[in-house]
Amino acid sequence: MTSFMGRILRVDLSAGTAESVAIPQEIYEAVLAGKGLEAWYLYNNIPAGADPLGPDNILAFAAGALCGTGAFLTGRWTVACKSPLTGGWGDANCGGLFAPAIKQCGYDAIFLSGVAEKPVYLFSDGRTTELRDASAYWGLDATEAEKALHRDLDGVCRKKPCVAVIGPAGEKLSLIAGICNEGGRIAARSGVGAVMGSKRLKAVVLAGTRSMPCADPEKVKALSKELGRKLLKMTLPTGLGVFIGAGGRMMGHLPSMPLDGSLTSYMFREWGTQSNTSLAIPSGDGPIKNWGGTPRDVRLMDAVYNPEHINKIETAKYHCYSCPLGCGGRLNIRGRKYVSFDETHKPEYETIEAFGPLLMNWSLDSIYQLNELLNRAGMDTISVGNTVAWAIECYENGILTREQTDGLELKWGDTEAILALVGKMIAREGFGDALADGVKRASERFGGKEYAMHVGGQEPGMHDARNDPQLGVHFVAEPAPGKHTVGMSIEYGAMSLCDICSWAPPATVHAKKRDLEDTEEMALISKANACYTMLVDGAGGCYYGQMMGVHMWKLIEYLNAAEGWELDGDAYMEIGERIQTLRQLFNVKQGYDPAAVRLPDRMLGVPPLPSGPLKGVTLRNREQVSSHWRAFGWDDKTGVPLPETVRRLGIDKLTEV
Ligand code: SF4
Repeated sequence: MTSFMGRILRVDLSAGTAESVAIPQEIYEAVLAGKGLEAWYLYNNIPAGADPLGPDNILAFAAGALCGTGAFLTGRWTVACKSPLTGGWGDANCGGLFAPAIKQCGYDAIFLSGVAEKPVYLFSDGRTTELRDASAYWGLDATEAEKALHRDLDGVCRKKPCVAVIGPAGEKLSLIAGICNEGGRIAARSGVGAVMGSKRLKAVVLAGTRSMPCADPEKVKALSKELGRKLLKMTLPTGLGVFIGAGGRMMGHLPSMPLDGSLTSYMFREWGTQSNTSLAIPSGDGPIKNWGGTPRDVRLMDAVYNPEHINKIETAKYHCYSCPLGCGGRLNIRGRKYVSFDETHKPEYETIEAFGPLLMNWSLDSIYQLNELLNRAGMDTISVGNTVAWAIECYENGILTREQTDGLELKWGDTEAILALVGKMIAREGFGDALADGVKRASERFGGKEYAMHVGGQEPGMHDARNDPQLGVHFVAEPAPGKHTVGMSIEYGAMSLCDICSWAPPATVHAKKRDLEDTEEMALISKANACYTMLVDGAGGCYYGQMMGVHMWKLIEYLNAAEGWELDGDAYMEIGERIQTLRQLFNVKQGYDPAAVRLPDRMLGVPPLPSGPLKGVTLRNREQVSSHWRAFGWDDKTGVPLPETVRRLGIDKLTEV
């Protein structure tokens, strides 16, 4: 027995049909489940040159291999497709209860092709699978639609269903739309919501009750118990968040940055990802003023965004499936300035950065409002923040006029103008319509390309490559470019991959200078980082589990126990390498040119910043990306996987279904 359900659900929305398809065991052995299964299926089944918003594109929802086995931090689901934003591989990831819901219907993944004639939702409880009329839900925001589906289905199904749903952004084909679950938690990146909207698929509703298999549940339980004990051990007196800003200022001046996995997990448990804001601003990690500013008012920024302020209005913490950390929370925001809602999810670090320092906006209350608005619309806060920053800078420099912005005067830190512009983007109204497809399209139409911060069409996550040049390598070389969830070098030391992988360089204290070098060691670090992240994604793991390090979150032991295998770390890292290579082959098949992807000059440090923690830094990104590709066995000039690499990884032998 392994942890896999052994089947996928294949849905043709044009024909209105659904079939359950068996997957050979050799596929799971090669790519696990989650993103690996999606990479294998989409590479084989989306024709070259497919229109991302047309019937040939396939939208995939997958649970990871470890989901449902009792392994901690393995409740993430991944959605994948050809991205309308980049024209290449697209994926996004989210938590909650949707991942186990896929498996409880009897499947490891659901693949949807075609376009429905009218709005539908997919319903499955493992016995009945059907496409149902969604006209009553079309037009509702994601949270309202989810509530309405629960109102209509709870009590009718055998169990309370789990819902993944799009909001108006996806319906209106905004290329920066995501897919939501559980009241506005969102798989935001790559324009996956636009693909769902293009298929006239409002929601996927799952209510299965099957049990999820595991080869050795006792062993998995023992591993989780051990991790739980370690996590509980790490406690600090409450209220310490007020000192985080001082830590960030120190990090900005130090030549190296030690990072400890248990400390990170404590911070996520105590404050959530918001704990990073006060660290990121002064250290140079968090971008300021459309990535061109320096952290001058760091004490003021820390005073505004310190996570203790957010914790004070937290009414409840929440956890993804099988997670002891619980980095999420609900906030009571009733009666706050700019706010029209009673409550919202705790905004993530990425959201606070994108609407705070990036726009020089000092109103945390307005960020609560923007967070809720965009979660309901189903729109990516990273992409929206970067696009608004571009608009402000263009306006300041006379590239945009007041007539073009529908009378809005766009200025740094003008909270009301920011709120108004985001409202227009959600509604696709006037100037907002032009911005609703992200910063690349907007700059192609209006100019100001030098202020448009995107990598290969996707707006980058809120971490500056000048602070972590290795992240800059992944921003460019990652098959879904601009994502911040792959390859941070500052985390490499904490992950300690050398302890499970014979070729991964030793984990040392993260030295900033070393990261600027183009050496074989740095290329192996970036390769190890990418392979391990793909392995985590195939397992359905959470990035924050990954960050704890292999001594705390024992992924290899978990996988061997769940699958009944006896593989070593090298064999598992090869699975990660295979998944990454399949995603890159997908890009090549679709005509995406990896060599054409560049970091914006500003992020390269051209020209370098005159002051602050990133003073004088210019990256050697192109050389480092070439070395990264070479380490993978891909052509170092084109980024195309070499035939011998494809053969070595056995990709040529993987059965098509
Ligand atoms: S750490 Fe946070 S995001 Fe990760 S699984 Fe736990 S609750 Fe979900």
